[in-house]
Amino acid sequence: MYQEAIKQYLKKHGYERIDLKAVLFDMDGVLFNSMPNHTQSWHKIMERFGFGLSEEEAYLHEGRTGADTINIISRRERGHDATDEEIKAIYAAKAEEFNKCPEAPRMPGAWEVVQKIKTDGITRMVVTGSGQVSLLERLNRNFPGIFRKELMVTAFDIKYGKPNPDPYLMALEKGGFRPNETIVIENAPLGVQAGVAAGIFTIAVNTGPLPDQVLWEAGANLLFHSMNEFNEAWEEIKKAVD
Ligand code: CA
Repeated sequence: MYQEAIKQYLKKHGYERIDLKAVLFDMDGVLFNSMPNHTQSWHKIMERFGFGLSEEEAYLHEGRTGADTINIISRRERGHDATDEEIKAIYAAKAEEFNKCPEAPRMPGAWEVVQKIKTDGITRMVVTGSGQVSLLERLNRNFPGIFRKELMVTAFDIKYGKPNPDPYLMALEKGGFRPNETIVIENAPLGVQAGVAAGIFTIAVNTGPLPDQVLWEAGANLLFHSMNEFNEAWEEIKKAVD
């Protein structure tokens, strides 16, 4: 049932087949159920600094760097970019607010599917716009034996965040993979755009409140409504790729 989506992808990019060697996972909203903490923190802090950013809009900016998000709102509401000092102050306040939230749990289904992928001998990578220093420690604690430091792309690695393809292109470079040797798992419209722009077959997992339509319009090749659903579909996806 997934063959049609794969056929369309291959035709668009001129590839013969997907030779699956690695799965590139976004982190927030895919591996961890952390987006509610992020969007609530963004909403609260932006309001404190005099900007309007609803929680739902925060989902639309998911994947951008903090500076990009702040500048977009600043231009909209004041007609100019935020200063570096403002960006620093807002981002620090947002990080502080986020750190007050209870630690986000693993996304249900994520642990099950990454284990299957590992057993299948397929490489796992993490590609995130997040710049939390405790990231690797958290991944190791919640997904022991699944991810390796040298196969991660974070905010520290790249200049241009999602929706630019750069984070995913960097992942291909780090892993030594071609686009058609990987698939991307993303929950956010801008993340889907980034994966698609990097020429990679991109699976959207709609774990947030946005309508599916937004993810299809971002270019998603397939869509599931949870990591559980993706986990249940994994064997079929693998068969369709082979
Ligand atoms: Ca995400």
